[in-house]
Amino acid sequence: MSVEPSDFVRRLPIGERISLPEDGIPFWEVFPYEGDLRIRVLDEPVLPEPPRRGEDGDECPGCVDTEGPTLWSDAHWKVRGFVEPEGVPAQVMLLPHDHGDLADLAPERAAQLGGMLQRVERAVMSLGGIARVHINRWGDGGSHFHVWFVARPEGMMQLRGTCLPLWSDVLPKVPAEEWQETNRRIARALAAEGGTAHVV
Ligand SMILES: [Zn+2]
Repeated sequence: MSVEPSDFVRRLPIGERISLPEDGIPFWEVFPYEGDLRIRVLDEPVLPEPPRRGEDGDECPGCVDTEGPTLWSDAHWKVRGFVEPEGVPAQVMLLPHDHGDLADLAPERAAQLGGMLQRVERAVMSLGGIARVHINRWGDGGSHFHVWFVARPEGMMQLRGTCLPLWSDVLPKVPAEEWQETNRRIARALAAEGGTAHVV
């Protein structure tokens, strides 16, 4: 872990006001906000970085399943849902049972990952009315490898691309009963190809 900022970080305009680029994302049709915006001033770097969740001997939320219902699992993988409805038609997360980040996956598990990404995408697409399932891995919060699947509703062209999570934040949330049924349908679709659905 670094304790000194890199050349890249040293070049950043930390503490200075940055002006909006004329063709920047805030001017794209997919950006959910409009009006007068300004860019947040960059803070000083924090080095070494603080531990992520599950990294410093604390209870790992990826291991203990306290952050959402496990919809489906098999011997090596699980798909987790979200308790609270979102502003997108569906959102789930794929995690290995074993604790570790992407680089820690055993070769056999890493080789399964492509097929698992396809399976979860298929399960979400089977809901109908979904144009695309965006797959994201960020990993800045929790250290237990987890992949996000975020469904974009078919026909909503403004919701395309990287701003979808921002739209999910501001759009009306899916009614709770419908959200639970969506989770059940995803679990059943996954179990149809093997493993066990835990919400039926
Ligand atoms: Zn873990």
